[in-house]
Amino acid sequence: MIELRGKAVADAHKEALQDKIAAVGDAVITMAVLLVGSDHGAHMYATFMEKTAKNFGYGFVLRELPETVSHDEVVTALRELNDDDTVHGILPLMPMPKHIDTEVLIDALDPKKDIDGLTTYNIGLVTAGKGGFAPCTAKACMAILDHYGIPVEGKHVVVVGRSQVIGKPVAFMTLAAHGTVTICHSRTPDLANYVKQGDIVIAAAGRPHMITADMIKPGAVVIDVGINELNGKTVGDVDYDAVKEIASAITPVPGGVGSVTTTMMLEAVYEAYHA
Ligand code: NDP
Repeated sequence: MIELRGKAVADAHKEALQDKIAAVGDAVITMAVLLVGSDHGAHMYATFMEKTAKNFGYGFVLRELPETVSHDEVVTALRELNDDDTVHGILPLMPMPKHIDTEVLIDALDPKKDIDGLTTYNIGLVTAGKGGFAPCTAKACMAILDHYGIPVEGKHVVVVGRSQVIGKPVAFMTLAAHGTVTICHSRTPDLANYVKQGDIVIAAAGRPHMITADMIKPGAVVIDVGINELNGKTVGDVDYDAVKEIASAITPVPGGVGSVTTTMMLEAVYEAYHA
């Protein structure tokens, strides 16, 4: 069994990216985070992203707005970042306060600065296999498969989850890589029957340990996107200890997909700089 550790993937991508950035010269590649309201997780992620971006030598802009801000004021702040030529990539952090219509907000984001592939425009490009910015977590799954030399072509890929940020994009990306793709979700009857057919299983449901060893085909590759809390511990959607005995390769949680996602974001900011 190969443990598909994310750090090796992230390090390789960061090294390649550093070389490209060195060629940029004195220009400051800059990302902005739009943080609205008081969600603890969003605040923690903003702090983490600031540290990561700055450590990497990027510029970082935090546009922070209070819980009481109106929807229109958030759209205005986003448009200001769109129009700011010194900002190359923008990440609106979720969740936002309930009175903000995030569907409308996201489509006010300039697709050329949409580093996490949130806009309908980029979703269209990714779905059509025409490039565009894809969500960084979906890209992290693909980067792991690629780094460890796991072919997707001709394989049956079973994706559990159909969210716009992970399930759907990773399904389309594996399809573009010539996988045969099944997408499962909460209304899929007899989930185990589908998962058991997967040569590659990508679990992105947000349900701790829902993928058990009896659901996995011997020798399958298992990519666990889930980040959940169970009895005070961070665990994935896959029952790692049992599934590792059956799978040929598996990502740990933590230390798997999550550790590659941020590096994909740094890459996307660089791509946005060139867009
Ligand atoms: P969502 O809640 O938006 O989507 C979950 C998806 O899983 C939905 O499509 C849902 O189906 C499906 N689902 C839920 N329960 C079941 C079930 N019992 N059987 C089959 N399908 C089910 O979550 P996200 O996509 O945003 O995130 C998924 C997980 O990934 C979470 O644990 C999250 O924390 C983690 N995550 C990890 C990241 C990383 O970098 N590693 C980054 C972002 C998120 P339906 O559509 O029918 O409701």
